[in-house]
Amino acid sequence: MDKPLPKPTAETRKFWEACARDELLYQVCAACRHVQFYPRQHCIACQGTQMQWLRSAGSATVYSHTTVYRAPTAAFKADVPYVIALVDVDEGFRMIVNILGCYPAEVRIGARVRIVFREAGGGLRLPQGELARKVRL
Ligand SMILES: [Zn+2]
Repeated sequence: MDKPLPKPTAETRKFWEACARDELLYQVCAACRHVQFYPRQHCIACQGTQMQWLRSAGSATVYSHTTVYRAPTAAFKADVPYVIALVDVDEGFRMIVNILGCYPAEVRIGARVRIVFREAGGGLRLPQGELARKVRL
């Protein structure tokens, strides 16, 4: 069984194309400067339609996290335990990533995270997180 993959749409295609180059993009509204993530055609603050794409430096802080010990499907069985985290990216948006390359107990609210990209299949690369200061496993 394969893991489910994101399906790029007209609104998200530019984002996924950037991920394939290991670049994290987000949107800023040209009218009201609202920062938003995930990508949409309209600003969720003012309904403006002039959305600008900017590149994030890829640094974030853990807002919250959980550890998955029981795989939701057979496709994730080899990954458990793994950490899912909400991270606040420095440019002002929040996203969900897995925190890779560490023991779950090492992940703390407030920990600094670096966004990295990993092959997911289907030509997609997914943004993921690694602790900025970590012990290599
Ligand atoms: Zn706006």
